[in-house]
Amino acid sequence: MSETVLLVGGGGREHAIARSLADSDASLYACAGNRNPGIVSIADGFETLDTTNTTAVVSYAEDVGATLAVVGPEGPLAAGVADALEDAGIYAFGPMQAEARIETDKAFQRRFMQEHDIPGCPDFETFENMEEACEYIDEHDGDLAVKPAGLTGGKGVKVIGDQVTPEEATEYLRDSDYDRVVLEERLVGEEFTVQALVANGQLRVTPAIQDHKRAYEGDEGPNTGGMGSYSDSGLELPFMAEDDYHEAVDVLKATVDALDDYRGVLYGQFMLTANGVKVIEFNARFGDPEAMNTLPVLTTDFLDVLVAARDGDDLPKLTFAPKATVCKYGVPAGYPTDPESGAKIQVDEESAGDALLFYASVDERDDGIYTTTSRSFAVVGLGDTITEAEEIAEDALSVAGEKGLHMRHDIGTETLIQRRIDHVEELRN
Ligand code: AMP
Repeated sequence: MSETVLLVGGGGREHAIARSLADSDASLYACAGNRNPGIVSIADGFETLDTTNTTAVVSYAEDVGATLAVVGPEGPLAAGVADALEDAGIYAFGPMQAEARIETDKAFQRRFMQEHDIPGCPDFETFENMEEACEYIDEHDGDLAVKPAGLTGGKGVKVIGDQVTPEEATEYLRDSDYDRVVLEERLVGEEFTVQALVANGQLRVTPAIQDHKRAYEGDEGPNTGGMGSYSDSGLELPFMAEDDYHEAVDVLKATVDALDDYRGVLYGQFMLTANGVKVIEFNARFGDPEAMNTLPVLTTDFLDVLVAARDGDDLPKLTFAPKATVCKYGVPAGYPTDPESGAKIQVDEESAGDALLFYASVDERDDGIYTTTSRSFAVVGLGDTITEAEEIAEDALSVAGEKGLHMRHDIGTETLIQRRIDHVEELRN
């Protein structure tokens, strides 16, 4: 039977998922709050709807006769879209609302790690009263990460001693309307991501990636949804040893074992520290940008993974092209604090040359594609080395130009990577 897949979500991540399914023997339909022109050009149908509205998603899935669904972003997972599709008899590759708490509730996530003895958990305390959290910060002698428990699009965390002073952190909490917050040990080291495809109690891991959350070059400025990312031609990154990768995989395995029949993507964000690999957080879906590093080099048919997951079969072993990848986002000027929308995007899939172009949040008008206030598009270079991939990505960015846009040109450069290697060497000595 040929499959009909519904893809939920309209970001760069979902454009990458759509492209990975485009060559499979499946009809593809997609729904998202924004009309992503990249997905529209690939899919057999596209509906603009609120993807956190479970009734609307299920109704579209039924209209198109979906036999499978892939839920891209965390918002719909938090809203219970996977549960609603399941109730309607449509298999969703994405966790149920209860399992998605591993991402959507950082307090739950830390307690879960503690309860199940999952390695790599930093010391933490959870608070429901902001005044008590502020007192803890005042009394605490040292650096802490201040993490609102709920979803903040990756922008809610403040790290004392790095981004803010203790006074700024308490002011931040007192001015907020957060109802729960996690205060945890500040981890120092190099961050990396490992994502796993999970179903039927099995997991299949993918190469490590380094994302760049800070808005400006040299890792300065506010946190963003992610400005770009790179992976190497093997499983590890240049600053990692093989054991570091395996330590991260062991954490993911222990987490899948402890979760009740988890399905979908389990994304681990790790910090390689002087004391080994620690967990920064888990996500319940592909990363955005990381999906754009992973899926273009995945040589196993992604549809085969989805079908095996649904049918209760063994997941296929994953194979990857031995290519390094560099992904760089073009975002509106002023993003994330003061984004200016309405700039015409000068690069398209053709003029991106050897780079892959993925659309994110854009506004398609009669005369072209324009920026909104969220991340606009990403270019991804694939090469034998990170340097080669970086150059391909940069060539595409030069077509896009700088007008009305901001990008981080340092991602994937030799200088930045050498700095990561030196940093880890320093930590280990
Ligand atoms: P999260 O939303 O948990 O991914 O956090 C966003 C960013 O905050 C991460 O990418 C890290 O750079 C930083 N961060 C989170 N937790 C910690 C921690 N315990 N120590 C140091 N930095 C952290």
